[in-house]
Amino acid sequence: INARYLEEVHLPSQSLCGVKFDLMVNSGLAVELETADLEHTDGVGLYRTEFPFIMRSRFPTEQEQTALYRKILESSPNKPVIMRTLDVGGDKALPYFNIEEENPFLGWRGIRLTLDHPEIFLVQIRAMLRANLALDNLHILLPMISDLAEVDESLRLIKQACFEVSDELSIALPRPKVGVMIEVPSIMYQLPELAQKVDFCSVGTNDLTQYLLAVDRNNPRVAGLYDAMHPAVLRALYTLAQQAKGLQFPISVCGELAADPAGVLLLAAMGYRYFSMNSSNLAKIKWLLRRIELSELELLLPEVLACSSAKLVRLHVQRFLEQKQ
Ligand code: PEP
Ligand code: MG
Repeated sequence: INARYLEEVHLPSQSLCGVKFDLMVNSGLAVELETADLEHTDGVGLYRTEFPFIMRSRFPTEQEQTALYRKILESSPNKPVIMRTLDVGGDKALPYFNIEEENPFLGWRGIRLTLDHPEIFLVQIRAMLRANLALDNLHILLPMISDLAEVDESLRLIKQACFEVSDELSIALPRPKVGVMIEVPSIMYQLPELAQKVDFCSVGTNDLTQYLLAVDRNNPRVAGLYDAMHPAVLRALYTLAQQAKGLQFPISVCGELAADPAGVLLLAAMGYRYFSMNSSNLAKIKWLLRRIELSELELLLPEVLACSSAKLVRLHVQRFLEQKQ
């Protein structure tokens, strides 16, 4: 990492004009969090629980999960830690749970799989709740939601898990905050209903780009078409930010776009204030945000949203960034 970024890592994540941002880290591994500089972050914005499942030869037990999640929650005491329920399927296979499908990215993935196997979901939530005891920084995030019924069913199971663990421990556990990943286009059009049901949402720009453009995020043949700077993706992100603001529905971005200097500038211009990213990019993004005036960015935004291609978008933002170097 560039030394000049590190010099400012302890300073507030705040623009020149005084607008504050929350910068959180994405992680999938406990060891990653042990080595990351979490003191200067605003918590863990996305903990991908699938990695400990993928690395084993069988499903981890409730006790094993509890011990692991405890470590993760303890890594950022008094700051939110957003744990996502198991998001396997698609490109992420479990060696001990065979799924064969012609279209895995459109198939049995994320919440679809765990709601069909509520025992997997319940054990995971119960482990999270146990790990959260006396820490109280757990937030639960639901991946691949495409339909409101999935939210209702997940909330029902979370309530059940809360009830069971409370009963076992003889303590009335509060229900942690629950959020939904915005990564399937259908759910972008149901934000008002979603805001009534859950506490927050988090935009997964990696999958949202894949599903909006119908471009496999891992297929090299069509990699040239996969671009989160596609004007359609940017317009969707802008609409989402505006809607969430109108609903006073907390919204963050945890996809790769938040870790891209050009991407984060556009997201900030759109009104996003909470970003989660790989810890290796955090110092750079903070450094950049500390050098912007929102009013300048807000002038850039209409130009960018009017661009006809991702290439032109990049060109516009590049020019803006060069003036900042
Ligand atoms: C995303 O889809 O943008 C996201 C953050 O989740 P993942 O990359 O784990 O699918
Ligand atoms: Mg995703």
